[in-house]
Amino acid sequence: MRRTKIVATLGPATSAMEALRQLLEAGVDVVRLNAAHADMATHATNVRRVRELSQVLGRSIGTLVDLPGPKIRSGVLAGAEVELENGQEFLLCGGDDGQGDARHVATTLTDLAQWVRPGDDVYLADGAIVLRVIESVGNDVRSEVVRGGTLRSRKGMHLPRAEGHVEPFTERDALALEMAIAAKVDFLGLSFVRRAEDVERVRAMLPRRGFRPALVPKIETALAIDNLAGIVKAADAVMVARGDLGIQMPARSVPLLQKEIIRFCNQAGKPVITATQMLESMTRSPLPTRAEVNDVANAVLDGTDALMLSEETAVGLYPCATVRMMGEVAESAETWPRQRVTPEAGGADGDRVAWAVAHAAVQAAEELGVAAILCPTRSGQTAHRVAAFRPKVPIAGISTSSQVLGDLSLVWGVRPLVVPQNADPSEQLRLAIVAARGAGLVREGDLLAFVFGSAGPRAGSTDSVRIVRV
Ligand code: PGA
Ligand code: MN
Repeated sequence: MRRTKIVATLGPATSAMEALRQLLEAGVDVVRLNAAHADMATHATNVRRVRELSQVLGRSIGTLVDLPGPKIRSGVLAGAEVELENGQEFLLCGGDDGQGDARHVATTLTDLAQWVRPGDDVYLADGAIVLRVIESVGNDVRSEVVRGGTLRSRKGMHLPRAEGHVEPFTERDALALEMAIAAKVDFLGLSFVRRAEDVERVRAMLPRRGFRPALVPKIETALAIDNLAGIVKAADAVMVARGDLGIQMPARSVPLLQKEIIRFCNQAGKPVITATQMLESMTRSPLPTRAEVNDVANAVLDGTDALMLSEETAVGLYPCATVRMMGEVAESAETWPRQRVTPEAGGADGDRVAWAVAHAAVQAAEELGVAAILCPTRSGQTAHRVAAFRPKVPIAGISTSSQVLGDLSLVWGVRPLVVPQNADPSEQLRLAIVAARGAGLVREGDLLAFVFGSAGPRAGSTDSVRIVRV
């Protein structure tokens, strides 16, 4: 049974109901909807479809809406793509200025000219194309192509000097946030976060009571690396967004940063996703490269909770084969006896009792060789804490709430299981065992560990371990 979770991005290749069903069946745990593309109604429809299919498949599948954030983009092109040649001149136009061609393109930055100086490098096509600034002319910028390539509509653009100044929350972010809250998605990805306040600002916009999505800042700017500790503290989970990170920082430092960010999250007991180009060649090929297989395995060995697919499942030719490949590689890597990272005493929330009880539960469970650790949980926190110790035995996060189950879909090793609410504690326990049996986690005669917070007003505390023979 695979412990590492898989996040897959939907797109034209996987949005039709049947394609989506096959994708989820291939082993997806969390579906990502990239709000930088498509309209909000399409995303809302997709969330609804994922929920329906999740019912059909009898498995909790999480949903993540990725807010585009202050990503600077080049504008729409008249044709599908243009080829920029080394040495040619190219004009970047500040503000939205109609359709571009091989000689000019608009950008989403209206005051573009203010942020560049002659000799600066500007990156187009997510870093593939490099322009060198010649001069600013009004709102426009004349440049020379120093590394040519293919430019398509609305691709990411980087201007090292502008990055700290752009508006942190855009109109499109507001629309996507509204859609995500209405659709009750489980996770919000926050792009181009630079500091903890960027996370706190979004948290303040969430509804005060009832449903609140978990916030997943993406570490993809140089500033976010400087402010990592504060961002992780403010986050519910974190994404190592290697695509943009590898433009903002030298690509050679990304493998080391990945290890550092993952270790940091493991210590804080926060889930972490490793993202971008993991099986990129499978967008066009039925088989990955050796390097990609190694990359997926190494992210697992680094201690990631989840692995993410982007274009592979959004526009790829082999979306299901890619998910299955990722699952097989991850499961194989999990057999390696790596040293486990132990969360700091008190974990991320400083609740020393809860973390010590979770740790004790994992030690007892492994010493006794129990069939599974069952975590009936009101907030999901008990299952988070147990998973943070990376036990060898399966973990089930047991809840009546679809929000809690959705949240657990991202957490390493946790199988979300729905159990109806029952006021009688011993009946509740019996129902949990029934659910664990139904999921194939336990059989007659097995030992089980229960970890939970005893009855009381405070959800989220973990104070009890109980070992039961079925
Ligand atoms: P993106 O984020 O796919 O939204 O750009 C991931 C990354 O930058 O790696
Ligand atoms: Mn990105």
